[in-house]
Amino acid sequence: MHELAIAESIIKTVLDEAEKRNLARIKKIAVRVGALTDIVPDALQFGFEAASADTELAATRLEIKTIPVTGKCKSCGNEFNIEEHIFICPFCESFDIEITSGDELDIEYIEADDRSD
Ligand SMILES: [Zn+2]
Repeated sequence: MHELAIAESIIKTVLDEAEKRNLARIKKIAVRVGALTDIVPDALQFGFEAASADTELAATRLEIKTIPVTGKCKSCGNEFNIEEHIFICPFCESFDIEITSGDELDIEYIEADDRSD
């Protein structure tokens, strides 16, 4: 399962970061997932719950934000949303387009308490 491996890598990254920044009780992790990644948010959520169960993140909430795919036409310069993986400019029907978002897979922010509390 693709999403489980991704969940494990998110958990590892967050635990490393928590160590470095001296954070305790991580309440929430917000991740941005582009629609082009083919990651199923429900599967990622499930994978996160399974993979975090035996870690310090067992009670942490994972918030998944799906980023739509957008493109910019190199011929006419218009920007537009790309749906259904149709990579064609809706304005001039050019195929010469640049993907400007949709392949994100990153941690947007971590919400936590300081260990000093
Ligand atoms: Zn165009």
